[in-house]
Amino acid sequence: MLEMRIIASKEDDSKSDTKSDSKVEPKEEEETKFDSEKLNEKDGNYLLTYTRHLERRLRSLESTKSKLERELLAAQRDLANLRQELDRLRQPPLISAVVTDMLDDKRAVVKSSSGPSFIVNISRKIDLENVKINDRVALNQRTFSVMEKLPEVVDPLVQVMEIDEKPTNITYEDIGGLNEQIQEVRETVELPLLRPQLFKKIGIEPPKGILLFGTPGTGKTLVAKAVANATKATFIRVIGSELVQKFIGEGARMVRELFEMAKKKAPSIVFIDELDAIGSKRLQVATSGDREVQRTLMQLLSELDGFDNRGDIRIIGATNRPDILDPALLRPGRFDRLIEFPPPDDVAREAIFKIHTLKMTMDPNAREFRRFLQATDGATGAEIKAIVTEAGMFAIRRAAESVSLEDMQAAIAKVMKGTKTTQDRFELYA
Ligand code: ATP
Repeated sequence: MLEMRIIASKEDDSKSDTKSDSKVEPKEEEETKFDSEKLNEKDGNYLLTYTRHLERRLRSLESTKSKLERELLAAQRDLANLRQELDRLRQPPLISAVVTDMLDDKRAVVKSSSGPSFIVNISRKIDLENVKINDRVALNQRTFSVMEKLPEVVDPLVQVMEIDEKPTNITYEDIGGLNEQIQEVRETVELPLLRPQLFKKIGIEPPKGILLFGTPGTGKTLVAKAVANATKATFIRVIGSELVQKFIGEGARMVRELFEMAKKKAPSIVFIDELDAIGSKRLQVATSGDREVQRTLMQLLSELDGFDNRGDIRIIGATNRPDILDPALLRPGRFDRLIEFPPPDDVAREAIFKIHTLKMTMDPNAREFRRFLQATDGATGAEIKAIVTEAGMFAIRRAAESVSLEDMQAAIAKVMKGTKTTQDRFELYA
């Protein structure tokens, strides 16, 4: 095969030699044509590849460009923000003031926080209709013009008194005895909020406030918690001593803000626990501290009086010492209804035992609560709770599975003895 190909090629060569001999010029022409074709093809390929390369480069440059443009935009945004922030920080401070009067010529009389009062212009940015006496405003430092209206402030101490999460675990069923008291509380607090039309129909104003009084641990706070849970009203809880402040006028201001908040969030229930902390009798001989407490009490009296219509606000007070309360607090129109919380009787004590042992593991004979009624005569609800907790502790100490009758008896003896000695001790100091 190879030989044949060589021969054939030789033949071709000879043929071509003869051809070349006869026509030299056309061959050269052909060759140059062939060369230039080849060259053109090569150039074409090269150009094609180069164009593709350029196109790729262009695409990558375009994507880099758009990326850089995006970055530029972000940087410009940052710059604008920073400039704004810088301008904001460079602004001179404003002076806070309170509007004391509005004049007819669109000017206002303001009392600045530093003391003096000024008659000032109001910036056109502010809607004059919205500016009222007692509003807080900000003044320009040089011209004292009113630059903006400030939002109203509620003391953070007052703000935290609102209970957002109501004690959902406490209902009227969790209270042993106290049926009459619960009914009275519901009538005075719940009913006017839930069915105000009943009072309208009869033509009477519902009682304003109620005062729960009784020895410690008889369930006053418990009833208030159950009321909070039963209504959808805003529940504001304040302890009397929280309203006693160090600086003059602070307590009164807190009382005012407390009622402002209650009015804004009406319907609401204000529960003032340990009312005696601010509500004790006013005496002629008093220290400056006493006078501050008296000022707070007077503010409370005026709020209770409701010179301004208090709207849908119900007030519950609670105290262990009604005897030391100022008579002004107890007059009709303020704490209208006085509800006594006596120590529980036999039936109530049995019910309280049942409530507090509901989730406990107990021997059947330990659950016969009637046995314990005599030994726990005079015990309060809080003491009964302490007895069952103590009995549980005894059972744990014995490493027992359930509370026995003996645990209960030992707990009663311990708690009741403790109560008696405490009472004796108090009597000693009385
Ligand atoms: P203080 O005057 O000292 O504030 P208080 O009358 O407000 O006392 P509460 O806080 O209501 O007493 O009661 C203390 C605890 O005693 C309650 O958490 C509850 O467990 C228990 N308790 C009191 N009375 C009852 C009752 N009638 N039924 C069920 N539990 C009660």
